[in-house]
Amino acid sequence: MTGTAAAVRPTPLAAAAAQLRQHLRRRWLVQPIGTAEDRRNRRGGGAPRVVTLGDATAPALADPDRRAATVHLTAATVLIGPVSAHRHEGWGGAMVGGAAGRPCGHCLAIRWQRLRSRSQRDALEVGDQTTAVGPWPQLTAYQLDAVWELYRASHTGPPLPPPPSWDRHSTPLPRVSQLDLASLRVRTYPLLAEPCCPSCTRQRPDIPDPLVLAHQPRPKPRPDTYRLRTPDDYPLPAAALVNPVCGALGAGTALTITSPTTAPVTGSVFIRGYGGLLDVSWSGQSSGYHASRALAYLEGLERYAGTHRRRSVPPVIAAYADLGPDALHPDRCGRHPDEVYDTDPILRRFDPQRPIPWVWGQNLHTGRPVLVPRRLCFYSSPAAGDTFVLSSSSGCATGSCLAEAVLFGLLELIERDAFLLAWYGNLILPRIDLDTCPPVVRALVDRAELQGYRLYAFDNRIDLDVPVVTSLAVRHDGGPGLLSFAAAAHLDPRQAVTGALAEALTYIPHQPTTVRRRRAELERMADDYTLVRRLPDHSALFGLPRMAVHAESYLDDRSALPIEHLFAGYRPPGTPDLRDDLRRVLDLLDARGLEAIVVDQTTPEQEAVGLRSVCTIVPGLLPIDFGWIRQRAPHLPRLRTAPATAGLAAAVLTDTDLRRVPHPFP
Ligand SMILES: [Zn+2]
Repeated sequence: MTGTAAAVRPTPLAAAAAQLRQHLRRRWLVQPIGTAEDRRNRRGGGAPRVVTLGDATAPALADPDRRAATVHLTAATVLIGPVSAHRHEGWGGAMVGGAAGRPCGHCLAIRWQRLRSRSQRDALEVGDQTTAVGPWPQLTAYQLDAVWELYRASHTGPPLPPPPSWDRHSTPLPRVSQLDLASLRVRTYPLLAEPCCPSCTRQRPDIPDPLVLAHQPRPKPRPDTYRLRTPDDYPLPAAALVNPVCGALGAGTALTITSPTTAPVTGSVFIRGYGGLLDVSWSGQSSGYHASRALAYLEGLERYAGTHRRRSVPPVIAAYADLGPDALHPDRCGRHPDEVYDTDPILRRFDPQRPIPWVWGQNLHTGRPVLVPRRLCFYSSPAAGDTFVLSSSSGCATGSCLAEAVLFGLLELIERDAFLLAWYGNLILPRIDLDTCPPVVRALVDRAELQGYRLYAFDNRIDLDVPVVTSLAVRHDGGPGLLSFAAAAHLDPRQAVTGALAEALTYIPHQPTTVRRRRAELERMADDYTLVRRLPDHSALFGLPRMAVHAESYLDDRSALPIEHLFAGYRPPGTPDLRDDLRRVLDLLDARGLEAIVVDQTTPEQEAVGLRSVCTIVPGLLPIDFGWIRQRAPHLPRLRTAPATAGLAAAVLTDTDLRRVPHPFP
């Protein structure tokens, strides 16, 4: 397939579709499906409705033919569906809409296209009209027969049992069967409705969210447990989330069965954002594959929710100057120096007179609605004159209710703020004696030792009394992959230590290989920090042994202190209601003059299984950025004042106190 500027003309695939359409119509006239009454009542399957897939991008506007389509011809396969798992309820998915959560043919087209290769998506989505490189082969008689028989089998007789690979939560979902035209292999997958499908969803205007901190209590399983449900508690339709035809999160997952430290399950999908297609990956890294898989799906859903808004709700388009006090000025979250805007090809100065997209959020202290620039909360949104910063998933979190999601989102913001304060502020952090930590920590330390790494943990609290722990893995022999940093914040200091060390373990297996593979490039970065441009550059750079000199404040041989001693003055909230924990964090922020804002990102797919995702924003906390010239943290006042407030520096820091080296945050 190649791009061409030729005038629109029927594609060769359309000719094959016409052939298929004619054949199916003939067969249907001879052998219609269902009883006459069924057909009158539009039950049990109708005449096949054929469309093509992959020769043009899925339509952006409502399209009745696409919505009603039940046979989708692609270059190599034919997709039959969506078909309801309970056939008596309707004509497959064809005539029921997304309002009821049922997918239509257009939903399938969108989900299918998202899983295509980078070159295919670019050709379809940003290329000109596509054209085949040669004439299209005629469909053979046996291929046409196979399509008809599959169509008939999908629409008549008792419902087929779901394939054994399906989880029970996918069983009731509408199905799509894929016929491979080369091998005639048939595979069936469940399909979820696409929440932004232009054909079967109705747009509704954006209005301020109702108060998120529900009045009803959020009882915790135990006072020291901050997750109300475990990952296994959610009825996740795994087969619908991940499958190669129409998976909502990706085409598949990979298990790294040779990983020596964790049991990683990973997946990825291309997301179109302001800079083209971005490979967005998600993973779970527990100590068993079953647990990792559930975590991976939850993270996949969180990425899905955070990259784009997945509700058919158009943003408010307005200039800041016209919005008044309801709107969050993006400069409150930090801005880049002028010279960065002058040279960076993507970044654009914020202009209060220029209309940009906004979404409604809420001030968590007052409950008041706030308009937030969409750029700050849906981080892969297309550029709309609003690339004044490039935000990330920082502050995005998922939970069983908004309070839980908000708590973990705020903890993540506090963790990154503290990490950056210690790094750029060149602070000396107390080291935690890992022998005084819970037994699970010993297991993590031993696993790292087996890989040739020693683990360290530091009490990284600054001026907010929330346990933040920074971990550091150091390679014994000083070789490539020398340092790996990670961090975690938690209301329980022991869980913060465990979280930070467990995360360090996820990087250890790759760090030496990454450094060996990118050695020359990393050496150049070490000489010229402006070459540090992307997220993975930051952590990879500190795998380079010569960078250790810049991490001396973490590497000296200061003595380690018992965890009980370090956190003696800290009392975990120990309350039975999660709302009290959240209030405590909000009060701590408030005491420092910081206010928290939340934007609800929950997608319909998450809502259906009892999940909520949010983006939390705390203007004034140091934001994490990737790329050396794009760092906002060194320009924010908090970097210089917070260490003095906390008593970690004698006075407000001056420029000479700062560590002007890219942060090593992974
Ligand atoms: Zn639809």
